[in-house]
Amino acid sequence: MSSIQEETDVILIGAGVMSATLGSLLKELAPEWNIKVFEKLEKAGEESSNEWNNAGTGHAALCELNYTSEQPDGSIDISKAVKINEQFQISRQFWSYLVNSNLIRNPQDFIMPIPHMSLVQGEKNVTFLKKRFEALSNNPLFEGMEYTEDDEKLKEWIPLAMEGRTSNEPIAATKIDSGTDVNFGALTRTLFDHLKSKNVEFHYKHSVEDLKRTSDGSWELKVKDLHTNKKEYHKAKFVFIGGGGGSLHLLQKSGIPESKQIGGFPVSGLFLVCNNPFVVEQHHAKVYGKAKVGAPPMSVPHLDTRYINNEKSLLFGPFAGFSPKFLKYGSVFDLLTSIKPNNVLTMLAAGAKEMSLTKYLIQQVMLSHEKRMEELREFIPNAKNDDWEIVVAGQRVQVIKDTEKGKGTLQFGTEVVSAEDGSIAALLGASPGASTAVNVMLEVLEKCFPEHMIGWEGKIKEMIPSYGESLVENRELFREIHKHTDETLGLCEKEPVYS
Ligand SMILES: Cc1cc2nc3c(=O)[nH]c(=O)nc-3n(C[C@H](O)[C@H](O)[C@H](O)COP(=O)(O)OP(=O)(O)OC[C@H]3O[C@@H](n4cnc5c(N)ncnc54)[C@H](O)[C@@H]3O)c2cc1C
Repeated sequence: MSSIQEETDVILIGAGVMSATLGSLLKELAPEWNIKVFEKLEKAGEESSNEWNNAGTGHAALCELNYTSEQPDGSIDISKAVKINEQFQISRQFWSYLVNSNLIRNPQDFIMPIPHMSLVQGEKNVTFLKKRFEALSNNPLFEGMEYTEDDEKLKEWIPLAMEGRTSNEPIAATKIDSGTDVNFGALTRTLFDHLKSKNVEFHYKHSVEDLKRTSDGSWELKVKDLHTNKKEYHKAKFVFIGGGGGSLHLLQKSGIPESKQIGGFPVSGLFLVCNNPFVVEQHHAKVYGKAKVGAPPMSVPHLDTRYINNEKSLLFGPFAGFSPKFLKYGSVFDLLTSIKPNNVLTMLAAGAKEMSLTKYLIQQVMLSHEKRMEELREFIPNAKNDDWEIVVAGQRVQVIKDTEKGKGTLQFGTEVVSAEDGSIAALLGASPGASTAVNVMLEVLEKCFPEHMIGWEGKIKEMIPSYGESLVENRELFREIHKHTDETLGLCEKEPVYS
């Protein structure tokens, strides 16, 4: 007897925020399609999407200095910041649609308002921040941003960071109140709960081990039931590889030409967390600093107020580290087994080029608790060792590929890799990550279902009114959407309901 189960329309591999978002979009656009989800862990949202495995920043480029680069002529290029902000507005609109349709009941379970700030020290950095502020503050997407070099103002904004500060170096900050803290773990679980009620079939503790194209153009997946160790075979017309760090291996197994000459390099993350309510209460912002020389962009240090499980805490980091695993619960052989004849030269070229990253990672791995506390004291001069403990966050697998910049170029963004016929797509990379999940999953739909897009456009516009339009060029539309999503997502409150 064949163990192949009935063919399904869609298989989502991995129960993280990306599969949750794609599944939710598809259930609205094509409710009659049947969907199966395979997840090797026991629950949804346990890898990078888990609230403790990422920083929970709703990345809208309001405070992340690596999204605005200084050009050789001294001007500030804001194009990346504008793009990321627009992408975050797309997420906000989709989440608002889900709230308005009662598919998400309480938005405060996953999104909270929190000011986003950038804080720099030293003359050169202060000049950079001022120019960045001037370049952004006229832009509609960054309306409301404030800038100060004044100590008194800074004490008002970030008392904890100013107390005990003795340096005479110039200091400056920007602040914008429209930032957010997002609990992507809670969001993932909420979206999957909703999908469960819509008859989506969930298979937890099921690891996808292989996939191959069948003669009729569908995909057959070999899946291991980790409860029984038995193999199962499942067929689908469309497969989304949303395995986070596990996606590269599965993409390679698909054998599609688009999967060649791509490698991955894992960077692990650690955070310092403070749960002392006395300290926690003194800070109310996400404060991003400047990356150290040689540090990859996702290692920009930041001090964040977080809201997790109705509790407020502070998080500082990330400290980068090296582990050959591609997933937090992955295998130490992940890096080695991802090296294939078709990507070995790409990987070697990256190794030769990225010496400063290697040096940086080695330094980070060697840091003691005291050394990490010293870095924290650049943000909170009076921080006490006993108030802070280390938590291990998720793994990010940075994409390495050959680009016009040369062989083996390390990429810091997210990439959708899909087959020419649109029957399979994988998401690689992790930055800006979960914040832009809706935009990235719309890209998957556009690449894989072009024949449906005209028919779906009306529904997409109902869910995401700005779909296909530039918000930066349409100040009124941006204001209207921002106001509406603020109200729906409960982001108008200056002070959160709970502490
Ligand atoms: C330290 C750190 C900080 C971050 N900070 C932020 C932030 O502040 N803001 C932001 O927007 N983003 C942030 N990110 C990025 C964000 O967390 C990720 O982009 C996002 O969670 C990725 O979601 P995903 O669904 O692709 O992957 P994941 O959440 O990792 O989910 C993938 C799932 O696939 C499963 N899986 C893998 N292989 C298989 C297989 N073979 N069979 C079955 N299941 C499989 C895994 O078990 C996992 O559950 C951060 C990431 C890290 C690591």
